[in-house]
Amino acid sequence: MANITEAEIRKIVEGIIKGTANASAQKYSSTEYNGRKLIGVYSDMNEAIDAAERGYRAVRAMTVEQREKIITEIRKLTVAEAPIMAEMGVAETGMGRVDHKRLKHILVADKTPGTEDIVSEAKTGDNGLTLTEMAPFGVVGSITPSTNPSETVICNSIGMIAAGNGVVFNPHPNAICVSNYAVDLVNRASAAAGGPDILVCSMDKPTMESAAIMQSHPKIRLLVCTGGPGVVKAVLSSGKKAIGAGAGNPPVIVDDTADIRKAGKDIIDGCTFDNNLPCIAEKEVFAFSNIADQLISEMQKNGAYLITKEQADKLSKVVLVEKTNKAGKTVKTVSRDCVGRDADVLLAKIGVSVDKSVRCIICETDFMHDFVQHELMMPILPIVRVNNIEEAIDLAVKAEHGNRHTAHMHSKNIDHLSAFAKAVETTIFVKNAPSYAGIGFGGEGHTTFTIAGPTGEGITSARSFTRKRRCVMADNFRII
Ligand code: NAD
Repeated sequence: MANITEAEIRKIVEGIIKGTANASAQKYSSTEYNGRKLIGVYSDMNEAIDAAERGYRAVRAMTVEQREKIITEIRKLTVAEAPIMAEMGVAETGMGRVDHKRLKHILVADKTPGTEDIVSEAKTGDNGLTLTEMAPFGVVGSITPSTNPSETVICNSIGMIAAGNGVVFNPHPNAICVSNYAVDLVNRASAAAGGPDILVCSMDKPTMESAAIMQSHPKIRLLVCTGGPGVVKAVLSSGKKAIGAGAGNPPVIVDDTADIRKAGKDIIDGCTFDNNLPCIAEKEVFAFSNIADQLISEMQKNGAYLITKEQADKLSKVVLVEKTNKAGKTVKTVSRDCVGRDADVLLAKIGVSVDKSVRCIICETDFMHDFVQHELMMPILPIVRVNNIEEAIDLAVKAEHGNRHTAHMHSKNIDHLSAFAKAVETTIFVKNAPSYAGIGFGGEGHTTFTIAGPTGEGITSARSFTRKRRCVMADNFRII
């Protein structure tokens, strides 16, 4: 246990913030931040797992109240250091927006459930009492994305620790510095709250090999993987209990009963949040023909820039690149140089110069356009005109590609809303709001950055990382 007090930690944090008002002044790597060694970062996955297991043993020995103290400290440090992680995340990955990343961290700090999410059940009857408790798995192996890197590390850590687990991360290599900064933050919070010095662990150079060691290690009892289809498939083939949070391509339907002014604003607000990196963000719109012009005009009033079909085709050749997949087939994939970039930067690539007030690129396309079919994760929003609700639902369901991840609708017609919700079968369905309302930002409910559609846990929280255990007392302990 560390002997450092909360006041001392505060002092260190304030010093870090003061000294690093500007991201360019920060000196960091996957193992150090401004000359300070990051805690819990290893070069060997086996060592990281052993350390995470020691963390798990320490958490097991704690009371729930002690666990909650650590979580409270994680929340405090996350709010205090959100500006550092937001700047570092953008600087390291080249993706997203600093102001929005800061808000994402604060959302995680405020709305990720803690130990209150772990609830026991009792059943009594003629034969006595049966107790069902949510127990930890042990050491969780977590693979995290480049799009919400530190947000996912902190959100998963809060939930997994609340459930009583230890955690080892294999973060995305392109976001390893900010991910490991978050691992270090969790460990500093643990020490400050009287927990173990090393509670969660990570790798200095995560690779597919280190992920493979994690997936097959006997001490790893649960795998939690947040990312695209490749990684979800990999962990689901591991032979272990796995929670998979995979790709989306969220469609939006706007019918002619919607408040078009609000719909235009909400869609642009959601689509441009962190430059469209969140997997829940609006990716393509199906608008009734009779309101499409008005919707486009409202979007333009909210920072959208309308490009022509020719410009859209030109931009498509820049943001999507052809690659040969493992089966030797040529496939289009998003250019990593374009994911999460500002709208003006993307437009400059096709010779269009606009100022920073442009938040989003919009264009009218047909259904088969690449902008509709691919999960771009950049502020480009194709709009497809439809004639009626049947056509809208048919095309929107097809564009979602069976991910069953997230869908949105702007309408006041409850039959339309119900019909789309039933047809699309997504984990999250947002009505008449920006997409981020679906993860508790301006909408009710808790937040997560691990939305587990494929394996069914949905909007994950501490209880998702538990296993149920039953204890039976026959014929006794009933008080009536
Ligand atoms: P990515 O799939 O490139 O990487 C995700 C993680 O998986 C990384 O840590 C990567 O190193 C690792 N990885 C990739 N293939 C692997 C394999 N075969 N074995 C082991 N590890 C592997 O994703 P990204 O670009 O960082 O994130 C964007 C994608 O993730 C999008 O498709 C987005 O929709 C999805 N995503 C989903 C959620 C969700 O909650 N459902 C959240 C964030 C991102």
